[in-house]
Amino acid sequence: MSAATEQKRPQAAPGVPDRLPTTMRASVLLAENTVEVQERPVPEAGPGEVLVRVGSVGVCGSDVHYFRHLRAGEFVVESPLVLGHEMGGTVVAVGAGVDASRIGERVAVDPQRPCHHCSQCLAGRYNLCPHMRFYATPPVDGAFAEYVTAPAEFAFPVADGLSDDAAALLEPLSVGIAAMRKARVVPGQRVLIAGAGPIGIITAQVARAFGAREVIVTDLVGPRRERALGFGATHAVDPRETDVTQLQVDAFIDASGAAPAITSGIRSVRGGGTAVLVGLGNPELSLPVSYIQDNEILLTGIFRYTDTWPLAAHLVASGQVDVDSLVTGRYDLGHAGDALDSDTDPNSLKSVVEPWH
Ligand SMILES: [Zn+2]
Ligand SMILES: [Zn+2]
Repeated sequence: MSAATEQKRPQAAPGVPDRLPTTMRASVLLAENTVEVQERPVPEAGPGEVLVRVGSVGVCGSDVHYFRHLRAGEFVVESPLVLGHEMGGTVVAVGAGVDASRIGERVAVDPQRPCHHCSQCLAGRYNLCPHMRFYATPPVDGAFAEYVTAPAEFAFPVADGLSDDAAALLEPLSVGIAAMRKARVVPGQRVLIAGAGPIGIITAQVARAFGAREVIVTDLVGPRRERALGFGATHAVDPRETDVTQLQVDAFIDASGAAPAITSGIRSVRGGGTAVLVGLGNPELSLPVSYIQDNEILLTGIFRYTDTWPLAAHLVASGQVDVDSLVTGRYDLGHAGDALDSDTDPNSLKSVVEPWH
């Protein structure tokens, strides 16, 4: 190792150990429904990278999918994989070219590693970079581990008052921000959101922060509708009882992935309004094409996010969005499997893994 690439260590930064260990614990996906804690080398921050001591990692639907089926969409797990891509923690070392004063900084990580050079990256759409590497997406390991490396520019500093859980949950919050930007929501508008899971509830809060006057959330499950009212929804309705196609909202966001919710949600949008498909469900479904044409509905999807972490951190720090209260379960690394199974409990909303507990 040359001096130029050697990662820098602090003299003494608060909360940072004097010496880094050489090995760490990581929860590794080995087979369907099987994760195991293994000792692995502590990764080294390369040029332009920071080494993060992981404080909290959110469990996401894609992690659960990999855990149960060893695949998510086009991506297939072919060798042992560390899951987890929603992370917050503390910088404990920096690689060459990174300001050593960042050691000790608490950060939230945008889990994307775009190339920064292709036409999509240069156009500002780095979420669509064809060369993207993403945590916990084969073959890139994720954050169910004591340490991870991250590009310095994608490890965003967070305010002292922000918890590690909140730092981790800036990732699903980023999905809500990306959805709301695509929905083009401005103050005074009315928004319909289908699905009161974590993304639906976060998106409802973002809609309010963006100035929406009315945020109507639909869900088939009563307690989930109830909960939405505590997280940004002004109305929570049962789509079997209320005909949402009469709502004439300015924007519809699907966070359910359910075909009936998507088709009725598109029909709920007023002429010239927007429908954004966020939820993952059937890869194909039939659409109300005439309605979309006759009413010039703008229909789009979102894929991850660009440039959302600073706003996400601000929305939480300023109290406009509450992500801490979404956490319904905490697990140590040895119980990452239980965390990945926690969605079988109807009361569970968001589980986090805390590698140091
Ligand atoms: Zn996620
Ligand atoms: Zn690129």
